[in-house]
Amino acid sequence: MSKQFDVLVIGAGPGGYVAAIRAAQLGYKTAIIEGHKMGGECLNYGCIPSKALISTGHVIDKVHEGEKYGLMFEKFRVDLPKLIDWKAGIVKQLTGGVATLLKANGVTIFQGTGEFEGFSADGKFKKVKVVSSVDSYDGTQKAPGVDDVVEAERVIIATGSTSAEFSHLKINGTSILGSKDALDVRDTPKKIVVIGGGVIGLELGSFFIKLGTQMEVVEFAPQILTGTDRECVDVIQKRLVKKGVQLHLETKVTAVEEKGKGKALVHVERKDGSKATIECDWALLTVGRKPRTANLNLDRIGVKVGDRGFIEVNSRLETNVAGVYAIGDVIGGAMLAHKASKEGLVCVEGFKDANVSMDVRALPWAIFVDPEIAGVGHTEESARAAGWDPVVGKCPFAANGRALTTGDATGFVKLIADRKTDRLLGAHLVGPEVSNLVQEITMAIEMGATSEDVARTVHAHPTLPETIMEAAESVHGMAVHIFERKKPKAAETHA
Ligand code: NAD
Repeated sequence: MSKQFDVLVIGAGPGGYVAAIRAAQLGYKTAIIEGHKMGGECLNYGCIPSKALISTGHVIDKVHEGEKYGLMFEKFRVDLPKLIDWKAGIVKQLTGGVATLLKANGVTIFQGTGEFEGFSADGKFKKVKVVSSVDSYDGTQKAPGVDDVVEAERVIIATGSTSAEFSHLKINGTSILGSKDALDVRDTPKKIVVIGGGVIGLELGSFFIKLGTQMEVVEFAPQILTGTDRECVDVIQKRLVKKGVQLHLETKVTAVEEKGKGKALVHVERKDGSKATIECDWALLTVGRKPRTANLNLDRIGVKVGDRGFIEVNSRLETNVAGVYAIGDVIGGAMLAHKASKEGLVCVEGFKDANVSMDVRALPWAIFVDPEIAGVGHTEESARAAGWDPVVGKCPFAANGRALTTGDATGFVKLIADRKTDRLLGAHLVGPEVSNLVQEITMAIEMGATSEDVARTVHAHPTLPETIMEAAESVHGMAVHIFERKKPKAAETHA
């Protein structure tokens, strides 16, 4: 088998496998190296398995609220091992699909960890050694000593990120669990402590509280979900507190002591210096993620990393070394699977057309807490800082018939537009299905639409997106299903 390729991708997560497939579609002879499982963190340990559990969590809630809808259950229990197996089945189906798609597109798959070796004698090719890894995507293992050296003109690094830890707080699978471990827990814990009230901690934590687990959250910052629209966070925070979750803000964990099987003591220190100890079954450590570059031997080819270890790239995703590119979590920024995939496409399409670059106007995101939060583009503050004159339109889901029929009409849609041009700048949503709803506004922003464009678009009834239409009308104080005063337009404000 020839070991020379046009394009070699290292890492088969949502950045890497998408880049490899697009490269093959564009006619490049392409290979991919994966040291663990196809699909990366997203498919194996992140987006997909967590959403399988979280979706089931919503069903559990519905059952518990059954009486409200006239649904009377004699007996109900959650068979957690069965649920975990069902989730594993979904992961298997999707990761198997990735391998099938790669092969169908003619991408050569190497199993192992990619390590840079250097350049070919003429400098044209980058040499990457595939070191056998125990954990291959299809369960097979290469015999030791037969490692391949793959050569490619262009190499795309898509190795992702791993959980951050502290020297005094390391994931050990017993008293301190990481997100991967938490997704495979087979005994419902009585009580957990989430260390780090960010996206992963609160998404997974929200699932466990639906199982009846008590939860306390220790967060270093003054608010949970730092960086997220404050009004949206307030809705989540209120619900967490209502569910009995204790939030310790401006507090840090100094140590976790293991006290035998299923018992741990979490020692915390508040901002004012006072200390406390929380007893729990185990703690979940979710304090951010760090780039996965350790095994790459980047120094052998001189690829530069920044202060925090992320690989530095230009707007075409190329590193300081010509022909070496990097995409996804390993370059930092928003750690989102869809950002990685987009970067994979942009990077490869840029090989053919020098004008292609990451000129994404609208990068949506969604946090699968209860209720969901989603957003895209500017907040009011960031719009103002960027020189716009923001005006806000808002509509609560309580004014939407379809939201009421879902049984939970909590939350709202908030749109931010520019007062002068009416151009949509951002949206922040909290409530039912907002992870799906945010896409309409993303499309609108990407296409340079105004709030009037959205308001004048007919929205089917009865549907949740009608709330977006009303929020767009509310930008001018003209929403029909809420009473509000007409807002002055640019001409009236600046006259
Ligand atoms: P995060 O950055 O969202 O949250 C980590 C939190 O830990 C922060 O709030 C931080 O203040 C806190 N923290 C740090 N050190 C602490 C300490 N010593 N004691 C207490 N708190 C401490 O990180 P994450 O939740 O690990 O998620 C990692 C990345 O993955 C994020 O970029 C996130 O956006 C991404 N992600 C996205 C999704 C999604 O899009 N739905 C889902 C999962 C993860």
